[in-house]
Amino acid sequence: MKTKQYDVIILGAGGAGLMCASVAGQRGRKVLLIDHADEPGKKILISGGGRCNFTNIYASAEQFISANPHFAKSALGRYSPQDFIDLVERYGIAYHEKTLGQLFCDGSAKQIVDMLLAECDEGDVELALGAAPDDISQADGHYTVTYGAQSARASSLVIATGGPSIPKMGATGFAYDLARQFGLKIVEPRPALVPFTLGGDDVLFRELSGVSADVVARCGDMQFREGAVFTHKGLSGPSILQISSYWRHGEPVGIDFLPDREPGWLRAEKRARHRSTIKNILSDPLPGRLATALAGQLDDQLDDQPEGPKMLADIKDTVLDAIEARLANWQFIPNGTEGYAKAEVTIGGISTDGLSQKTMEARKVPGLYAIGEAIDVTGWLGGYNFQWAWASGVAAGQAV
Ligand SMILES: Cc1cc2nc3c(=O)[nH]c(=O)nc-3n(C[C@H](O)[C@H](O)[C@H](O)COP(=O)(O)OP(=O)(O)OC[C@H]3O[C@@H](n4cnc5c(N)ncnc54)[C@H](O)[C@@H]3O)c2cc1C
Repeated sequence: MKTKQYDVIILGAGGAGLMCASVAGQRGRKVLLIDHADEPGKKILISGGGRCNFTNIYASAEQFISANPHFAKSALGRYSPQDFIDLVERYGIAYHEKTLGQLFCDGSAKQIVDMLLAECDEGDVELALGAAPDDISQADGHYTVTYGAQSARASSLVIATGGPSIPKMGATGFAYDLARQFGLKIVEPRPALVPFTLGGDDVLFRELSGVSADVVARCGDMQFREGAVFTHKGLSGPSILQISSYWRHGEPVGIDFLPDREPGWLRAEKRARHRSTIKNILSDPLPGRLATALAGQLDDQLDDQPEGPKMLADIKDTVLDAIEARLANWQFIPNGTEGYAKAEVTIGGISTDGLSQKTMEARKVPGLYAIGEAIDVTGWLGGYNFQWAWASGVAAGQAV
C-alpha cells in the first residue's frame, strides 16, 4: 500500500473539521480531510430545523460548560461571531435573528455546508468520504492513518470527529478512543441539551403531551427562561434542554410556570376575583390542559379547607401563599434523559488540561490537535456550539 504525504490529516468533516481544513489549506498546507460518512457536515444539514443556527451574536466563554471555564476564551476571542457573519455575508447567504441573538439561514443549512466546502476547495483540501480510519500510528514526528485500502502520512493530525450524540447520524466515541491512545485524559461524557423523562408521581404530566408554556427552568444555581413542552416521555423545549446540561441524576428541576407574576399575586386575585377557583385563575395565563393538571395536583394543599368548590374567597391567605410558591418552583425529579439518541450535544470529552488553548495542540503530543465537540467545551442551545466548532477549527487551522 502506497502512503500519500500531506502536511495535515483531519479526521471528521463536521463543522470544526471543515473550518480547520479550509483555514489550513488556504495557508498553503496540504490537507487531507477524512470522514466515514458519505457526505460532509451532516449535523449542520439537520441543525436548527434545517436552517442552521450558525452562531449567536452574544457568544462569549460564559455560555460554555467545561471543567476549565477559561479554556475557550482565547479561541472564541480570536474568531468571533462577527467573523463568521462576515464569511456568510461574503457568500451572499441571507440570514435573520430568530431570538436571543440566534442567527439562522433564511434558506437552508445546505448553504453553510456549501460555503465551507467552497472554502475547502479554495485551499485545495482533499476530501476522503466514506472512509473509516482503522489504524492510526505515530513515529518519527509523523502520523500515519490507514483508511480502507489507503494510507496517508502527515506531521499534524487533527481529531474532529465530534461526540457520540445522535449515533444514528454516524456520531461515535472515536475521538475519545484516539485521544486515550495518545495518553490524553477524558472528562466523563454525558448527553446534554436533551429532553427529560418523567416517572413516578410525575408520570401523569405525560398526559399533557404537546402542551407548551413559557417558563423558567432551574437546576442548582442555573436558570433559563424559554419555552417548555410536555412530551409523551416527559419534558422538552428550549428551557428544558438548556437546564439538562446542568442536571445530574437524582437532582430536582424546578419550573416557574408563571414567571411574570409578582409575589402576592394570588392574594391580589382573591381580592379581585374572590368567586374564582384556582383552575379558573390558572386558565388565564396557561394552556387549559396544563391549568387543569396543575390545579388537580394542588388540590392536596386545599385538604384542610372547608368542603365545597374551593373558591379563592374560601382559601386561607397562607394556603394561597404556599400554592403561589409551588407554582413558582414546581419540582420534578426526572428519572433520566432521552440519552445520546436525542441529545443535541455531548458534555465532557477530551480534557482541555492536556491541550493548548491557543492552538488546540496536545501539550505532550506534538502535532496532535483536537477541536469542536470532541473536546470538553459544550455550549448552550442557540448557535453557541457551532461558534465553538468554527473558533476551535480556526485556532487549529492557523497552527497546523
Ligand atoms: C439535531 C441537532 C441540531 C443541532 N442544531 C444546532 C444549531 O442549530 N446550532 C448549533 O450551534 N449547534 C447545533 N447542534 C450541535 C452541533 O451540531 C454540534 O455541536 C457540532 O456539529 C459539532 O461540530 P463538530 O465538527 O465538532 O462535530 P460533528 O458535527 O459531529 O462532526 C464530526 C464528524 O466526524 C465524523 N466521524 C465521527 N466518527 C468518525 C469516525 N470514527 N471516523 C471518521 N469520521 C467520523 C462524523 O461523520 C462527522 O462528520 C445540533 C446538534 C444536533 C444533533
